[in-house]
Amino acid sequence: MAVKPRGSVPEGSAPVSEVVATLSDGHKVKRRILHMRACNEKDEKGKLCCGHLKRWYGYGDEIGTKYGPDPEVYRCERCKTLYVPAEGEPARTRTLSF
Ligand SMILES: [Zn+2]
Repeated sequence: MAVKPRGSVPEGSAPVSEVVATLSDGHKVKRRILHMRACNEKDEKGKLCCGHLKRWYGYGDEIGTKYGPDPEVYRCERCKTLYVPAEGEPARTRTLSF
């Protein structure tokens, strides 16, 4: 742990993507960092996955229950970790608005 959060950044707002859920099939769901394109999941050797995050529509009911009927979900091509958009990230795909 050599990296110190800089300045007055309060704990919790550092740009790490937190695991927000683990599905019953074992797949992790992480919160994406703004404009994040590559997976930051580490393998057991501590190596970054860096897999490409792609929009994914193969989610099951579990995701639909958690994130609504038409969630924006991304999946890492390599380790299959799922990502949901960052908090406050504007949804670009909502075609139906109120
Ligand atoms: Zn990955």
